[in-house]
Amino acid sequence: MCGIFAYSGSGNAVSQVVKGLKKLEYRGYDSWGVSTIAQNSVRVYKDLGAIGGVSALEETHVLPPSEIAIGHTRWATHGAVNLANCHPHLASGKGFSLAHNGIVENYQRLKSDLIKRGHRFQSDTDTEVIVRLIEQILNELSVESGAQCMNDRFAEAVRQAFNQLTGRNTLIVLNAECRQFVGIKDGSPLILGRNGDAIYLASDVLAIAEYTKDYRVLKDRELVSHSLSGTQIQGTETGNSSADIHWQTLDISDVGRSKEGHPHFMIKEIFEQWSSIATSTRDSRERVLKVAARLNNARQVWVTGAGGAYFTACQIAYYLRTLASVPAQAIAAYEVQDYRELLSESDVMLAISQSGETADTLDALELARSCKLETIALLNCVGSSMSLLVDQVFLNRCGPEICVLSTKSASSQIAFGYHLALACQGEMNRADAQLDNLSQALSLRLNESYSMGIKEIAKNLHGARHVYVLGRGAHQAVAQIAALNIKEASYIHAEAFSAGELKHGVIALLEPGTPVILFVNHGDAYMINVAAELKSRGAHLIAIGTKTNELFDEFIELPFAAGETGGKGTLPSAGIADIIPCQLLAYHCATLRGHNPDKPRNLAKSVTVR
Ligand code: GLU
Repeated sequence: MCGIFAYSGSGNAVSQVVKGLKKLEYRGYDSWGVSTIAQNSVRVYKDLGAIGGVSALEETHVLPPSEIAIGHTRWATHGAVNLANCHPHLASGKGFSLAHNGIVENYQRLKSDLIKRGHRFQSDTDTEVIVRLIEQILNELSVESGAQCMNDRFAEAVRQAFNQLTGRNTLIVLNAECRQFVGIKDGSPLILGRNGDAIYLASDVLAIAEYTKDYRVLKDRELVSHSLSGTQIQGTETGNSSADIHWQTLDISDVGRSKEGHPHFMIKEIFEQWSSIATSTRDSRERVLKVAARLNNARQVWVTGAGGAYFTACQIAYYLRTLASVPAQAIAAYEVQDYRELLSESDVMLAISQSGETADTLDALELARSCKLETIALLNCVGSSMSLLVDQVFLNRCGPEICVLSTKSASSQIAFGYHLALACQGEMNRADAQLDNLSQALSLRLNESYSMGIKEIAKNLHGARHVYVLGRGAHQAVAQIAALNIKEASYIHAEAFSAGELKHGVIALLEPGTPVILFVNHGDAYMINVAAELKSRGAHLIAIGTKTNELFDEFIELPFAAGETGGKGTLPSAGIADIIPCQLLAYHCATLRGHNPDKPRNLAKSVTVR
């Protein structure tokens, strides 16, 4: 989940790395560190919390200017958030430093072996076993390998150490003796970038987009080694198969990295949904039609994802079932294993992920591929691990999403699912027109004054201990997303239930004044009954829909009321953008409680560990 960045080239490498880490900070923000080479040994600077300015770092004089550096922003998995556990980790003789993304799943066994061999540990991380393993292997290789050049020997030691690790891991290692860095990955991402003589390594393409147009996504178990003598990629299975680098050209700019005057990325990204909903379906129409034909013939379509993306998967499966009669079922990615016996070659797996790096979803796709299912991924990030794994990739094209919460990527993926369901039904043109109308309506009404109206409601809500969210049908998964957003941003305990569950248990939770958010379709008699039942037990009702009712204590009109774009039938079915009021509620509750919604505690945007 962490961010890794390395730079070699002219200029001050440390400041390049700090700038790169700032772009990766959304991946983890517990602590950070930078490492460079001075007087033939590696030096490290570490700090807790947000990434500080380069000038502050320069003032410490710990890291003198150098042409090569690596850095890391951490999301702790093993070991508390403190300086000892912060990366990069230093080898005993200061010959190299190492930054790591992932979890070394067999670290306990490796650590006890290394302790038996006399190694001493300075931190509580799983990462440190890799440092000690490389030291151990370097000792053994220097005895054996005589004439082997030091660059190669060091890369070989990293490769051998890496081959002993289990789990999804990415490493970069800075070696003082050869002024060299080595990177290697399995499961989590690593991107190589080039701009003239400058070479970059980073955890995502966007971190290098400002500096370079040439990039190469490293494949699993490939090793990249860079020093003054050049850059080389090797396959790791054999240890000697060197590959020419086939650079790809980046077709994205660094758009979306600034808050553009908004106090947080979250609110900026919420406001961008008028455009991201429209662009989400602009992938090649022919490809969408082909996939629609495949889904129509599938024995079973499994739609999967983890966290918010699982709820998005539920919504897409709902559209496929109800609009196109496609036998689609959502499964949480971390439960796909339990369905192994049910997966068949005539099935399709459609995976949803913003980052394309979610470890649980990668596991699900790997299992699907081993069972010979056709695999399709719907992603927002180019060059991600999932895009290399699946048969077909569709991109959201909603631009970088920096806030940890998924807002525009979730609604654009739901819009894509709706569009795909209508394509399955032979009505893609209707979906295009409807989504254009929705986008136009949002462009008119999703603005500061709409947000301020919701802030007034948040003022009554932000002191609550529990909030319940109810919806059914097209709003069941939307209610789940809403509750997740409120939890993530504001830390209020929010729980979603199908409205159908109310009488079967949930109603026992109600106390006078308990806030309940309800999604109510216009004329939905069932939900009006639910509202009445809640009201008669003293709930404080906040309804979201297109028409108010005397039962509601507060009413949030959707920002695309029917009729506004030319009358009935011109907007898509419910559920696509209905999450927006709850995104705004979550945002305002967070800021009213003094939290930064862009970086909620304990969370990271890209969940690359199991
Ligand atoms: N498992 C390592 C740690 O806890 C790396 C975590 C990360 O990917 O940031 O330090």
